[in-house]
Amino acid sequence: MKATAMKAADLPALRDALLGAMRAMGEARLNVGTAGNASVRLDEPRPDADGHGRAPHMLITPSGLPVPRCTADDMVIVDADGRPLGALAPSSEWLLHRDLYAAFPAAGAILHAHAPFATALACQRLDIPPFHYMIARFGGPTIRCAPYATFGTQALSDAAVAALHERNACLLANHGMVVFGRDLSHALALAIEFETLCEQYWRTLQLGTPVLLSETEMAEVIERFRWYGKPRGAGTDSDH
Ligand SMILES: [Zn+2]
Repeated sequence: MKATAMKAADLPALRDALLGAMRAMGEARLNVGTAGNASVRLDEPRPDADGHGRAPHMLITPSGLPVPRCTADDMVIVDADGRPLGALAPSSEWLLHRDLYAAFPAAGAILHAHAPFATALACQRLDIPPFHYMIARFGGPTIRCAPYATFGTQALSDAAVAALHERNACLLANHGMVVFGRDLSHALALAIEFETLCEQYWRTLQLGTPVLLSETEMAEVIERFRWYGKPRGAGTDSDH
């Protein structure tokens, strides 16, 4: 499914929504201080001379400003080269956000967090195996951990793009997590769900090696999740 691109006329509402998502991440204890960032896609990708999808413009949180001091006007519009249209610098992870929008047409909003349990697993460089069926919410039987690379670099962006193949969330080794959704509220719900799963896996590991679901069992769950959001579907946000 393709994300709905936002038009410039929606900008004031989007600025509010983006700041709201950052505040919600703080309230859900996914981020503290200046850690983490969030963005929303502004334009449809356009083909360039090479025939590749051109990275779209986006609205992204500013660099180095603690969320409690941010206003909606501090959210930064950047062009496809990361140049801000305004005085404030974009998040140091703008490259990661830009490349994810270019790689994943379904991404309408992206959240990055140093959430405690996700980060604990990321520091162990652990892929999350199918210890719980809800892993399938993120696109497959595992959630991958991208190899370590310095924050803000092309190497980190490349590692995340690879780890997100056929997924909508991944861990970033020795760093945190990244999640995308069709819009900000979807991405926020997924981020909270992801951190909850990370906590559950962390707790499970305290008791020893978990019993994992089989490939067949996970394939069945993934198939049922295809009905997600459909009126007469097999699952909704709240009933499983
Ligand atoms: Zn980070």
